[in-house]
This record gives sequence, C-alpha cells and structure tokens, in this order.
Amino acid sequence: MRRKIIAGNWKMNKNLSESINLISGIKNGLPQNVSAEVIVCPPFTSLETVHSLIEEVPVHLGAQNMYFENSGAFTGEISADMLKSVGCEFVILGHSERRHIFGETDEIVNKKIKQAVSNGLKPIFCVGETLEERENGKEFDVIENQITSGLAEISGDDFNKIVIAYEPVWAIGTGKTASPGQAQEIHKFIRELISKLYSQIQAENVRILYGGSVKPNNAADLLSQPDIDGALVGGACLQAESFLQIIEAAG
Ligand code: PEP
Repeated sequence: MRRKIIAGNWKMNKNLSESINLISGIKNGLPQNVSAEVIVCPPFTSLETVHSLIEEVPVHLGAQNMYFENSGAFTGEISADMLKSVGCEFVILGHSERRHIFGETDEIVNKKIKQAVSNGLKPIFCVGETLEERENGKEFDVIENQITSGLAEISGDDFNKIVIAYEPVWAIGTGKTASPGQAQEIHKFIRELISKLYSQIQAENVRILYGGSVKPNNAADLLSQPDIDGALVGGACLQAESFLQIIEAAG
C-alpha cells in the first residue's frame, strides 16, 4: 500500500512573512489524522523558518533545487548539505522550469539526483513531455529517456529514496490538466519501466506523483487512479485553503 504524497512547490513566491502566514494556515487547518504525507517546498530564504514552524506537525520540508557539487566557488548555488542543515528531507529535481528556463539537461539532473541521495536527501524527480512532443506522439519516448538518463548509475538502494513526479509541461501553470486517464496511462508506463530498470517490488513501492494544474476540483479524480500516488501542486498550494482541500482529497 503506497501512502499518498501531497507536495506543494511554492516556486519563487512568498517572502518570509508571507511564508509564515502560509505555513501557519496549513498547520492550523491540517486534519488531525492526516493520511497523506504532506511536503512543503518553500523558497530557500524561508526554509529554516518554515522548518521551525512544522516541528510539531506531520509536515515535511523540501527544497526546490540544489547543486551537484559539495561546496566551493559556485556563486549563487546551494548544496545538499546546506539543505539538510536547515531541515530539508526532500528536494525537487528536474522540474520542467529548471529544464526549460535554466537549461538543465538530463545529465545535470542525474548528477543532482546522485548528489542528493548520497547526502541523505530524497529527490522528487520530475519528468514530463512538452505539448509538441505529445502532439507528435513522442510522450512515451520522452518519458523513458528522461527516466533512464536521470536514474543512470543510481543503485537499487538509492532508488528506494526517490519519488517520481510526472508533470506534463503543457499542464504546468496553464490550467490545462491531463485527464485522469491520460495521467494514469503515463504513470502505469513509468511503473512498468521501473520494473525493468529495477525490480517488480520496487516498481510496486515507488510513489509516482502527478503534477500540472492540480486543483481542489480535480484532485480526487486524479488521485483515485491506481498508479497516481499523490500530487505535486504549484499554483493551488499558495493558499492554505486550496492546499488543504487537496490534502483532504488524498484521504
Ligand atoms: C509545478 O510547478 O510543479 C506545478 C504542477 O504547477 P501548477 O500546479 O501550477 O501547474
């Protein structure tokens, strides 16, 4: 039985006081016996403060990115060790905005995944096709390529720390959601691929999240699909109320 994950990617939103307001709202509204594993991924500048505010509640902390080196002359970058030191357990890697705006390649994503797992962070490894790729019938090839390249040289033990997120690029921040059937088809394909790359058991255990305009009104339908194990939420996680409604839909 895979426990569902609801993760909020705050992106480049929320200064420190806004972050305090948002996490306080989430904390106050969190159901008593929340069944999903809840993760918040604030900007770097709010990580430490948010961490101090979630110590008593079942909310986990993630970062939105990190660099693949340990330390040194990499101006503007953040290491895995730095993220751990402010309480991060998770880190989003390979998000389509990193790939498309900042030019991150599969090779860079792979180096970051290796660095994260070897430092005890759990990657939320994002993959997804563009609209053009889907219109040309390339979605399965693109996903297979992103997964195999991103997981290159990742051992079975390290793979167990990874969460996968399928996020079709055409559905991120656009208000267009993959239909539950479209999302389920890709999730199933990813699970079968993991079974070939690792093992049947690992394929059954890995959690595969869907991301792309998940909202309170579509979350339940998406989350009821057999291979959808949670959601990576962007826009709808910026208000406590809508994030909480998605957490409830996962219950
Ligand atoms: C995301 O950025 O990971 C995302 C899914 O965003 P949105 O929910 O706004 O589409």
